[in-house]
Amino acid sequence: MTVARSFSSPGGARHVVVIGAGAVGSASAIEALRAGLRVTVLEPGEPGGPHATSYGNAGWLSSHSVVPPALPGAWRKVPGWLADPLGPLALRWRYLPRAMPWLLRYLASGWTEARVQRTADALRTLLADAPVLHARLAAEAGVPQLIEQRGLLHAYRSRAEFDGDALGWRVRQRTGVQWEEWPQDELRRREPDLDARYTLGVFVPEAGHCRDPGRYVAALARHTLGSGAERVMARATGFRIEGGRLRAVLTEAGEIACDAAAICAGARSGPLAAAAGSAVPLESERGYHVVVEDATAGPRTPTMVADGKLIAHWMDGGLRAAGQVEIAGLEAAPDWRRAAILLAHLRSMFPSLAPSAPGSTAVKHWLGHRPSLPDGLPCIGPAAATSDVVLAFGHGHVGLCGSARTGRLAAQLLAGAAPEIPLAPFDPARF
Ligand SMILES: Cc1cc2nc3c(=O)[nH]c(=O)nc-3n(C[C@H](O)[C@H](O)[C@H](O)COP(=O)(O)OP(=O)(O)OC[C@H]3O[C@@H](n4cnc5c(N)ncnc54)[C@H](O)[C@@H]3O)c2cc1C
Repeated sequence: MTVARSFSSPGGARHVVVIGAGAVGSASAIEALRAGLRVTVLEPGEPGGPHATSYGNAGWLSSHSVVPPALPGAWRKVPGWLADPLGPLALRWRYLPRAMPWLLRYLASGWTEARVQRTADALRTLLADAPVLHARLAAEAGVPQLIEQRGLLHAYRSRAEFDGDALGWRVRQRTGVQWEEWPQDELRRREPDLDARYTLGVFVPEAGHCRDPGRYVAALARHTLGSGAERVMARATGFRIEGGRLRAVLTEAGEIACDAAAICAGARSGPLAAAAGSAVPLESERGYHVVVEDATAGPRTPTMVADGKLIAHWMDGGLRAAGQVEIAGLEAAPDWRRAAILLAHLRSMFPSLAPSAPGSTAVKHWLGHRPSLPDGLPCIGPAAATSDVVLAFGHGHVGLCGSARTGRLAAQLLAGAAPEIPLAPFDPARF
């Protein structure tokens, strides 16, 4: 086996390898450098590129997104998820046997309001202040313009539709989230392009937005290199652990000797965690986006609509709609009909959005993999085989938002310091 690089730091700073340079890995690398550690970033692709989930998400820095996807009574919807392959949440039949254990845990985690509240309370500790933390990171990385702190909007067609989400808003309120309600005329005034069927706005002022998540992550990754991190372009395959201590990260290109490592490989973290003794039920909640590069109408505030379960807003590259959940694994081919559904919904949200000419290249599609654990919480904590390996993945729907705080926590664990928030809810050993 070729040795990609031989790193050792006798007498020097503790040498840590950060595996993966998505939002979570890049933030972890920056914070590890800040903590005085010697950092190598191991990433086979271009940081922030389309292969990574951090590239194509909706850019919401929604510190209020604390309600897990599964809520009480979700089990009643399972037949619908199986019957409608193009619904906002779909389960592919062929994948069902593999997904079943994850699905049962997913449903159980949201069985009662008390369980949902426990998850929300924990998530709030991770997400609170996310817009501020990201604004600081972006400024440090030279891209302050990519983070906006102007609030986010949920649009409903009626009070009854809002009431259907009452449990979620009740749970959010108990975690300290505050919002403003915009009645019909206020919503019209603030969002003149939004279709008139939306008659109630729920505006969350504390939340923020990233104008180009891919470019943001690329800038964070460049900043790590400019701040002294090394980069190895290879895929991690496992660990050499001897006597309960990490000796090296194994890669396709050889070993990297090190003192500690963080697994930040998003939806592909499962086998690495298992190699460090922690078998965790990580699943991909596949999602799609569509970008209309030549759009001429759209929202003033990043907007989620309850009927289509999608988020729409301007990115630097055009008007993006992102959403949908498809449980079909990491390897199944994309179903681009889902992107077409997002596009159709986007047009119905903003009727003055002119249809692109047939064959237009101005509409772009993307599929990504939300790294999801069934209880809606990430894994942040030591691996079972050695505390030298830190798990930092599984942020599901909120990984961009949660990456800033997670980076700080991962660095604290790598440095052997006390974590700044209680990590028990995120303990990888909970499964
Ligand atoms: C449609 C959609 C919309 C979303 N909207 C939002 C939103 O608005 N707000 C929000 O907060 N979140 C959102 N998310 C979720 C968010 O995008 C993810 O939770 C987040 O990007 C995960 O970041 P990550 O760094 O863990 O993973 P990734 O961004 O996937 O990065 C993982 C990196 O690890 C690398 N890697 C993989 N395997 C290895 C290996 N063996 N060795 C070395 N490197 C490896 C990969 O190449 C990749 O670069 C959305 C997701 C989707 C799909």
